[in-house]
Order: sequence, then structure tokens, then C-alpha cells
Amino acid sequence: MNLSYWEIKTWLTNIDFTIVGSGIVGLNCALQLKKRFPKAKILILEKGILPQGASTKNAGFACFGSLSEIIDDLKNHSEDDVLELIKKRINGLQLLRETLGDNALDYQNFGGFELFLESDDTLYNSCLSNKDDINQLLYSIFNTEVFSFKVNNFGFKNIKPNYCFNPFEGQIDTGKMMNALLDKVQSLGIRILNNTKVEELSEDSNAVKLKTNHFDFTTKKLCIATNGFAKQLNIPEVKPARAQVLITKPIDNLNIKGTFHLDEGYYYFRNIDNRILLGGGRNLDFQTEETTEFGQTEIIQNKLENLLKTIILPNTNFEIDQRWSGIMGVGKQKNAVVKQLSKNVFCGVRLGGMGIAIGSLIGKELADLVE
Ligand SMILES: Cc1cc2nc3c(=O)[nH]c(=O)nc-3n(C[C@H](O)[C@H](O)[C@H](O)COP(=O)(O)OP(=O)(O)OC[C@H]3O[C@@H](n4cnc5c(N)ncnc54)[C@H](O)[C@@H]3O)c2cc1C
Repeated sequence: MNLSYWEIKTWLTNIDFTIVGSGIVGLNCALQLKKRFPKAKILILEKGILPQGASTKNAGFACFGSLSEIIDDLKNHSEDDVLELIKKRINGLQLLRETLGDNALDYQNFGGFELFLESDDTLYNSCLSNKDDINQLLYSIFNTEVFSFKVNNFGFKNIKPNYCFNPFEGQIDTGKMMNALLDKVQSLGIRILNNTKVEELSEDSNAVKLKTNHFDFTTKKLCIATNGFAKQLNIPEVKPARAQVLITKPIDNLNIKGTFHLDEGYYYFRNIDNRILLGGGRNLDFQTEETTEFGQTEIIQNKLENLLKTIILPNTNFEIDQRWSGIMGVGKQKNAVVKQLSKNVFCGVRLGGMGIAIGSLIGKELADLVE
């Protein structure tokens, strides 16, 4: 693109910090950089017309881990590591709520529920028998019991009669959160250029040169917050993981309220605006879903519809209104990768499936790496 003298001088000269990606991490990184360096010129580059990864696509669970997930994490991580991970999610949620306020997020504390398939005795029994130990482990954080078993009173079918309840789980309106974050960032004079994809970067001792799909320019420091797309900028620790979602049309007298985890968290659903939003099913076809391409597949969408018919809304007529997907960043370990990649380049990526919880904190940590 042939830019004018004015365009180059005003938007692309003397940039102190450039952030790639306007998801929850990139935007929180920008807020923290502005706090630390009030006079700095900060630019965010975003390839989508809106943020286009996971932050505007997710299910809006404000959660820190279901009982089965914590049990599973303890198989691969030490107790201390698991506690650290949970504390981080709780602190991250707190930071998000402090940064934007519960009204802006439409934060609702309806609690979280883990449902067990009728046929899954193994998982159910494991959760029953480990519940007390896990509650004890979490006591230092919550000073009370977190998980308890309750009788299904939502009319779900083909699941165990009891589900596991967690009163500390909440839900947010994802769109409102991102809108409020974007407003906050822009109100501080931080510029966001949408539809601008960073294609390559190179570095000398004082600066980083960026090539985008429209123009080239130079920035003093670069923060990469591209999560599932990190490999494209040579960060190998992150694999993309597509997650598919659908939402029903509004349902009269819907009495389901809360955030729900099913089948070890492979499926998740919640109420929103008298609708059910349901996602998951990557386990049906992990290989196809390891992609940065947005899209839906028949196998997963059929399964999601089948769950609505047989488990979630067995006695209710419903219609599907919309379907979409988002791209997460995952890896062998659950913790995010927040590090300095070279003298002037830093990254905060691999947020996994709980980026709402940790995204604000990871953005802040990324900004705090920069000197
Ligand atoms: C369907 C789905 C449901 C989820 N549900 C939940 C949930 O209920 N609770 C929860 O806590 N988490 C959930 N998550 C995970 C959570 O959304 C993510 O962990 C979080 O949004 C990650 O934020 P991020 O800023 O790291 O990444 P992103 O939001 O993906 O932001 C990265 C941005 O970088 C941009 N970008 C990438 N490459 C480039 C480039 N080269 N140049 C310019 N821009 C670029 C992308 O367009 C994108 O906007 C879900 C995710 C999905 C997909």
C-alpha cells in the first residue's frame, strides 16, 4: 500500500511498543504498558476486522477448573503446581473484574455444574471418591468446600442423577467484555489497526522491523499476543486448536441457568439471553481440529445437536440459530508461555481453554517483561 507522508508520520513513526493481536492478552498488555509508560506510543496490529482468534468467540465461562479436570491435572502435575494454576485463574478473574467492572462484563454468578454421562461409571466414581481430597486441597484458597454433589433438577436426561456443583463459577457476556476492553484501550490513546497482519519480523540491536500485509515499519519493542497463531511468527510451543460452538434461538421459559461441563469437559454449555450456547467435541477429531482455519465439521456439529436433543433439552423444541468456531492455543503443558524471545521481542501465548480467567494476568505479565 502506498501510504502518504501524513499517514506514515502520524501512525507509523516513533512507535515505542507494538503489540500483535487484539485478543484479551494483547489488550491487557497494552493497558499495562500504558500504565508503566504513560507517554509511550503504543500500536496494536490485528489481522481481523474484529479480534479474530478466541477472545470474541468463546463460551464466556468464568471458571477455574471442574472437579474431573483438577483430578486429571493432578495426574500430570504436582499438587503445588495445580494449586498455583488455580490461584492464577482466580487472581486473573479478579483482575478482569476489577479492570472492567461486573456490569460491563455482565458477570453472573449462577455457579458451575459438572454432568456425568449415564454410562460413565469410571469418571463419576473417581469424582465421588476424590471430592473430599480436592476440597481439602482447595481449602487454603476458598476457606470452604468448593465441590458438592446435588440432584439434577434441570430436567437433563441420560446423565447420572447427581451432578457436581461449584458455587464459585460464573459467566460473562464475551462480546461485552471485549467491547469494554477495546473501549478502554482506545480511550487511553492506544491505536488499533485492524485488517493488518504481521507477516515477518527482523531485529537489529535497537529496533524490530515488521512487514505487514499493507506496509513495513519499525518499532522499538514488540509484544506477540497471537495465541493459536503463534507458530506463524516462529513460536513453536503452541499448537492451534479449533473449537466449534452453536447457539439456539431463544427458548420460552428456559429454566437452565449456569455453566455446565459434560464428559470430562469435552463439552460445555450455558444459558445466555434465553438460549443455550453449546460447544466442544474436539475429541471426536483432534487431527482435523488442529488448524488455524475457522469452520465447522459435520461430525462435531451433529454431535452437538444430538447432545441438545438427548441430554440438555430432551423435552423442549429448539432451533439452532448460529454456529461458529474460534482458534485456541494449546500445548503439552497447561501453563501459558510468557517470555522474552530476543532483545526486543516478547510473547504471551498458549492460553488454552481458560483464557478468560488468565488472559488479563498474562497480558499484564507480558507487559511487565518489557524494560
Ligand atoms: C469456542 C471457544 C470457547 C472458549 N470458551 C472459554 C471459556 O468459556 N472460558 C475461558 O476462560 N476461555 C474460553 N476459551 C479460551 C479463551 O477464549 C482464550 O484462551 C483467550 O481468548 C485467548 O486470548 P488471546 O488474547 O491469547 O488470544 P486471541 O483471542 O486468539 O487473540 C489473538 C489475536 O491475534 C490476532 N493475530 C494472530 N496472528 C496475527 C498476525 N500475524 N498479525 C496480526 N494479528 C494476528 C488474531 O486475529 C487474534 O485476534 C474458549 C475458546 C474458544 C475458541
